[in-house]
Parts: sequence; structure tokens; C-alpha cells
Amino acid sequence: MENQINGIHHITAIAGKAKRNVDFYTKTLGLHLVKKTVNFDDPNTYHLYYGDKVGTPGTILTFFPWEGITAGRRGARQVTEIGYSVPENSLDFWLKRLEDHNVIYNKVSEKFGEQYLSLLDPDGLKLELTVAKKQDNRLPWETDEIKAENALKGFHNITITTNKMQPTADVLTGVLGYRLLEQHVNRYRFINDNVDNANIVDLVEVAGEVAGHVAGGSVHHVAFRVKDEKTLMEYRDRVEKLGLHITDKIDRNYFYSLYFREPGGVLFEIATDNPGFAVDESVEELGTHLMLPAQYEVQRNQIEQVLPSLV
Ligand code: ZN
Repeated sequence: MENQINGIHHITAIAGKAKRNVDFYTKTLGLHLVKKTVNFDDPNTYHLYYGDKVGTPGTILTFFPWEGITAGRRGARQVTEIGYSVPENSLDFWLKRLEDHNVIYNKVSEKFGEQYLSLLDPDGLKLELTVAKKQDNRLPWETDEIKAENALKGFHNITITTNKMQPTADVLTGVLGYRLLEQHVNRYRFINDNVDNANIVDLVEVAGEVAGHVAGGSVHHVAFRVKDEKTLMEYRDRVEKLGLHITDKIDRNYFYSLYFREPGGVLFEIATDNPGFAVDESVEELGTHLMLPAQYEVQRNQIEQVLPSLV
């Protein structure tokens, strides 16, 4: 876990209506709302984090909900699928649940010998529920309706659609510690062996695919995980040596971050495990209060009036 990339830290996507987003991820899919805060660059909108009990890196999906945003379009130069790991024998439960909740989904299919089903969230973001070949021992968050035998355990893989896989592959293997694991037609599966899960990136190469449009229902960026700020800054040097532009270190309250755009067009972030989500709320109370970064506390009344209701 030292001085290396440890798979995926979090994924951030864009949504429309905030309440609809909360209802879908906490009720229909049974994730834990780990943090309710605002977009640090646009404090009159939410930034919502979903994950396991404590928001362990590798389980965190975050959203910027903008009430009236137009729909994005899946396409090249994007993360086009977000794959969650689910327990063995849980896919029948999910097929029934998605049907009962009027979710758009596809029947169970298979890739690289793993069964999965794909679905769309209310904004059209494409998710997959996959039974991983390798046993996933992570403890999921449970709800009254979704117990551990069926619950989402955290990320399994992400899929990036690209016109040309090699430049992105070079960043994955040359900097981020991934290796090519398997290939099937135009899907290349890369794995990071430093951790046991949330460690797969699939590149799908489609030469003629039009670039996607990042708006409602699309992924904004994917963050890779490092232990601490010292490691973060070592990676800053490594990315810079490739000739890519990378930001300075940014304090995101719950982690420290760097951002760079990989040559295939996807915004990558590197984020630290520290300090974590319990820095401003106890573990038992995670996600129950509106948490504001210090610079916005003075505007709390105004912000609370503008933010849409989540209940
Ligand atoms: Zn991020």
C-alpha cells in the first residue's frame, strides 16, 4: 500500500435532480450517503458522496447534481461504464428489484468470464453489477431491503471508451501501476495488483466513436488512490515527466487531489486516503448533516435556502 497507486479512489459524475439522485442511490441501490456537502467551486449546488459505512476509497461514487442540466452523451474520451461488485447469486435479486423499481436494465450477460447486468440510473449513467471471478471480501453497507448477501460491495471496474487505446494504456501501465490482464476483441482489461478490488480498468477501443458530451448522466472524472500526500506529490512528478499538465495539490477537505487529463481525453485525478470522511462528522453521523468547507460557513444560511430539498 506504500508509495503506489492502489486502484480507484472515487468516481465523480453529473446528475440532474438531487433528490432523485439520493433516492436512487440510497434506496434503489442501497448505498450509504457518506457525505452531503456543496460543490467547492459552486457552493449553491450539492456534492453528494455514496459509499460503504465509512466511505472507503474504492467504494465512493460522487455526484454534482444540477437541477436543470441537459443530458450528456456517452462516447469516446469518457468513462462510459461504472462497474460495481455484487455477491455471488445476487443477480436474480437485482433483476427483480430493478424491474420492480422501473429501472432500465439489460439481462445478465458475461465478459471475461464474469456475469453482470447493466442498468441506467435516472439520468442515464450506465452502471454494471458484476459477480467478480475473484472473491470480494469487502463488507457492504446494508439497508432494510438490501442485506449483505445482495448488497453492492464497491467498485469492480470502470470502462473507458477511446478512439486509440495505446496512449491511455501507456499512462495506466507506465505511471498508474496497471498491467494488461486480458483482451477480448476491442476490450482491453488492465489490473492493478497492489490491491484486491476496485482495481480494474477496461479500455474499449472504437476508432470512429464520436467524443461524448459531459453533462447530466455522465462521468466527470475518475480518481486513483494513493496513501498520503507524500506519495501524491511523487506521482505529480511522474505525470509531469510525461509532458502532461497536472494541477497543484488541491485540498478537497476529505482528501488531497491532483488532476490531469490523460492523452485519451479522460480527466484523471489522484487522491489520498487521508484525512477521510470522518474528519468533520462522526462515523455514525456520516451524511446526516450538510457539511460546508470553512470558507463557506459564513454563507450557511443563504446556501441552505438555495439548495434543493432532499426529502
Ligand atoms: Zn474527484
